[in-house]
Amino acid sequence: VTFEELSSQYKLHPQIIKNIKAVGYQIPTPIQMQAIPAMLHRHEMMACAPTGSGKTAAFILPILHHLQEPRKDGLRALVLAPTRELAKQTYLEFQRLSEGLGFRILYINKTSSFVKKSGAKASRKFDILVSTPNRLVYLLKPNPPLIKLSSIQWLVVDESDKLFEEGKTGFRDQLGVIYKACDSPSVRRAMFSATFAYDVEEWCKLHLDNVLQVYI
Ligand code: AMP
Repeated sequence: VTFEELSSQYKLHPQIIKNIKAVGYQIPTPIQMQAIPAMLHRHEMMACAPTGSGKTAAFILPILHHLQEPRKDGLRALVLAPTRELAKQTYLEFQRLSEGLGFRILYINKTSSFVKKSGAKASRKFDILVSTPNRLVYLLKPNPPLIKLSSIQWLVVDESDKLFEEGKTGFRDQLGVIYKACDSPSVRRAMFSATFAYDVEEWCKLHLDNVLQVYI
């Protein structure tokens, strides 16, 4: 399967295809071949694929397809990454692959006072959010929360094995808070991990609907 074939089968936006070409991707990597169609079919997913296997684009491309175009009715996609560095890389990949589509992408790091200052209304100006769980929970804790996630349609947790490992109970609680805030009935979730992790599998079985498991 080539990206062109994927695109004609699923009627991807021509601009998305243009962007894939512009970044030089020709053939989907194995994780992309499995995860892209699964997410295009709106499956909840647990995907296990090593670092460097192309998993970032594997979740970005279907998210861009589902969002279709920028809207002003709140955040619709959320990607959690274990470190600020990975969150930044994911943000940059979102920018490259969504070039020309007009999506507004918010990347929250320690120094982004933007959301803190402007409150929940400000997050409505964005379509996509990339953050570490820590930062996001910090914004969700106040009452009312400083950010609204009730319009999220896609929640992706990248390198979830690392999060479970490092945070142990801490991350479990954080994910619980975030998961609860993403309370749209149509929300879909995808958990990516670099290694097979029992904790991640258990969490998915407990919290996701009809989870599709993908192993590379
Ligand atoms: P990731 O696993 O998402 O960190 O991606 C690892 C590297 O592979 C990054 O430099 C990507 O830009 C690159 N990459 C992702 N998908 C493809 C593809 N289909 N063809 C060639 N390179 C890719």
